Amino acid sequence: ITFADLGLSERMLASLKRAGYLRPTPIQQQAVPLALKGRDLMGLAQTGTGKTAAFTIPIIERLMGGPQRTRALVLTPTRELCQQVEASVRKYGEGTGLEVISVYGGVGYDQQTEALRNGVDIVVATPGRLIDHLEKQNVVFDDLEVLVLDEADRMLDMGFAPQINRIVAQIHAYRQTLLFSATMPPEVEALARKYLRKPTVVQV
Ligand code: AMP
Repeated sequence: ITFADLGLSERMLASLKRAGYLRPTPIQQQAVPLALKGRDLMGLAQTGTGKTAAFTIPIIERLMGGPQRTRALVLTPTRELCQQVEASVRKYGEGTGLEVISVYGGVGYDQQTEALRNGVDIVVATPGRLIDHLEKQNVVFDDLEVLVLDEADRMLDMGFAPQINRIVAQIHAYRQTLLFSATMPPEVEALARKYLRKPTVVQV
């Protein structure tokens, strides 16, 4: 299986070649075609499996050339993960004109506020800081199409369930939801039942 077999655009294939990727990892082989079809997914995958690209590639394909609105949100447990997802979007989305920003706690608000208010296609965020920005109406999710819950088990372990619930309540039901988790305890299953529609489970 090659990236070309996954139904990707020429532009994306060129980006992946530039990144030096020879072939899709197992999670990418399974998740990318389904995500491109707009399916909801529950991905059981550890870090290091290529799971970040498994969701950033389909998001970029979907948003490329579309209207400039905030159309994708990725929630992650930590600042490091936010930065990693942001870097991944920049790498695979190079030349698409898509704007991405990551917002997390522990740093000032001003830069994040300005970037959000200027309008950005893809927001990558930790739940607590995102709530602050939502309360200040720095970002609206009226046009959101794709929601990713990355490392869902860690987000729940860190006590982010109330924040996640508040955030998802702002997003309309006609969205695509992708949930990734290294483990699938009952709490994560419950989250998936609540927010995913007829999800396909992909496991590596
Ligand atoms: P992740 O599991 O998303 O944290 O990715 C782990 C590492 O694998 C990252 O450094 C990626 O850049 C890299 N990676 C992702 N997909 C591929 C691929 N298809 N081929 C080679 N490396 C990859």
